[in-house]
Amino acid sequence: PESGGSGCNDTGVKVIVRMRPMSRNEEGGTIVEKTSGDTLSIQGQKFTFDSVADETSTQTDIFELVGAPLVENCLAGFNSSIFAYGQSGSGKTFTIWGPTSALLEEKSSNNDKGLTPRVFERLFSRINEEQIKHADKQLMYQCRCSFLEIYNEQITDLLNPSQRNLHLREDTKTGVYVENLTEESISNMKDVKEILKKGLSNRRTGATSLNIESSRSHSVFTCVVESRLKSTDGLSCFKTSRMNLVDLAGSERQTSTGAAGQRLKEAGNINRSLSQLGNLINILAEVSQTGKQRHIPYRDSKLTFLLQESLGGNAKLSMICAISPAQSCKSETVSTIRFAQRAK
Ligand code: ADP
Ligand code: MG
Repeated sequence: PESGGSGCNDTGVKVIVRMRPMSRNEEGGTIVEKTSGDTLSIQGQKFTFDSVADETSTQTDIFELVGAPLVENCLAGFNSSIFAYGQSGSGKTFTIWGPTSALLEEKSSNNDKGLTPRVFERLFSRINEEQIKHADKQLMYQCRCSFLEIYNEQITDLLNPSQRNLHLREDTKTGVYVENLTEESISNMKDVKEILKKGLSNRRTGATSLNIESSRSHSVFTCVVESRLKSTDGLSCFKTSRMNLVDLAGSERQTSTGAAGQRLKEAGNINRSLSQLGNLINILAEVSQTGKQRHIPYRDSKLTFLLQESLGGNAKLSMICAISPAQSCKSETVSTIRFAQRAK
């Protein structure tokens, strides 16, 4: 398989499995082994993906694998998304964001910073390059960001958390949008950091017996990139596309974490929206392989309805499935691998 440069292949979704290192409090052995660039084995059983990243992979490696193509696809005019899927504690937030300290530091040299800050650094430098390349014409870019959370099938604006339970609307011209959602213009990394600082401090995390930091919500960071190229003859060319960086809720079966009552109901919604995402991606992969028309059930959950235009059609999609190598996580790891296989 070729590396870098090209975006997703044409056969649907790009699926990457990322295995984090063992953590200090994990006991017992490891059961997962990377056996080649695109295969791993769990206790002797082999699985193939577009790419497998093991505990030696760096944040830079992951950026080159999915982040750089995301930016190129977006600049080429495709709606493009990265999803992080996996049980709580498997490395989703580390992958999408990196440690909060690395995100918000003035200096951007921290090696641990995750995909989002790297994507925006690349986006701004590529925009700069494109503008120099088209210096004879006028090339203008406008980038607008929003940051929301879906919790228990309710949408909260992370840039203005007093806005809870926002509604999804559909417009024949502009497509699906969230009514009253804050959108902020950005033109440099300082703007991005301001937004991240605000949004991340408003993120909801629910304590479960499995992992205090575990999140029961999906967070969706979106940037709309608009460009206008004006040539000397006065004609304008417009392009609009969006990038989505999605940190999904923990995929663990919620009953195993001691949930009850209201928590259990939330758990049902989380499991359902993740399995609906899986179904939908499975159908999209099938449609792109067979060319057969099928009903695509976007409206089954807030997440898939919201991302409708970033999932089907020409949209580009990378799914990072995060796993732990530990024996103690085996059943959740197997379930994540199954999800990843279905997306292929
Ligand atoms: P999740 O968001 O899936 O619940 P986190 O991203 O919070 O999981 O990761 C859980 C812990 O493991 C965190 O302390 C994080 O820093 C660490 N971690 C995750 N992935 C890696 C990695 N690839 N390398 C080093 N540490 C990691
Ligand atoms: Mg997390």
